Amino acid sequence: MVKKIDHIGIAVKDLNEAIRFYEGLLGLKVTEIEEVPDQKVRVAFLPTGDSEVELLESTSPDGPIARFIEKNGEGIQHIAFRVDNIEEKLADLKSKGIRLIDEKPRRGAGGAMIAFLHPKSTFGTLVEICERK
Ligand code: ZN
Repeated sequence: MVKKIDHIGIAVKDLNEAIRFYEGLLGLKVTEIEEVPDQKVRVAFLPTGDSEVELLESTSPDGPIARFIEKNGEGIQHIAFRVDNIEEKLADLKSKGIRLIDEKPRRGAGGAMIAFLHPKSTFGTLVEICERK
């Protein structure tokens, strides 16, 4: 079952500059900055209400976020829904013919288990599902 929008992932070129806007002008607060070497990305979390903004800066020119920005410019890169059982949700989606980028959940930033669905199966939006303990 989907519980809520967990976070919105936003690709930015310069994490510190983006943080200056989100903290300084919008008044959000960064709770954590984490590097995920796997994804070649540096992530800042800014909770807002029951959800979070996840700012993503590439740590390498060939990382997925760098490639996204090259193609689309900065902006919303994915939307993440929190589920109570990610294994179950993935199996269910797969059985209904949804294309998965991650067949198995993997460890994402913030200690969550995450998996991405293919935008070809989700009306063009990169959808992440995630489970947090
Ligand atoms: Zn995410």
